Amino acid sequence: MAHKRSHNQKTRGTYALVLHLPRGATIRVGKLGAFRFPRGYYIYVGSALNGLTARLARHLRPDKKRFWHIDHFLERAQVEEIWTHQGDGRLECLWARAALALPRAKIIAPRFGASDCKCPTHLIYFGAAMPKGQRGEEGRRGHEKAEGVEKA
Ligand SMILES: [Zn+2]
Repeated sequence: MAHKRSHNQKTRGTYALVLHLPRGATIRVGKLGAFRFPRGYYIYVGSALNGLTARLARHLRPDKKRFWHIDHFLERAQVEEIWTHQGDGRLECLWARAALALPRAKIIAPRFGASDCKCPTHLIYFGAAMPKGQRGEEGRRGHEKAEGVEKA
């Protein structure tokens, strides 16, 4: 039996932002301190228990008070992709650990976005290539034919 949510705009869920930092930057992240972030791709994971859509819209808005750690980072970085999962559970820590286990994952700012949990960080750095969340991306650069990717 389906349960209809009476307030759809209050959808709870977990999200991951795939972010691109076009050039290296030293960014002060509130009380966490200042870090030198190399250019490249990052994944940030968070959860919104009181409105996933509103939270994501806020992340995409350039003009806002800086409240979350990610607000500081988003002043320099571009959102390339958004992955979401709707549901009541707080999966953000699982996702953060899964992202940290991917090849090339690195921690630049310990405790970023992880003030309320025990994770090493919720912002994971992946270097020059976008993380895919799957095996195989290492072989892709320069070996596109081998993977069956045809150029049109
Ligand atoms: Zn966590």
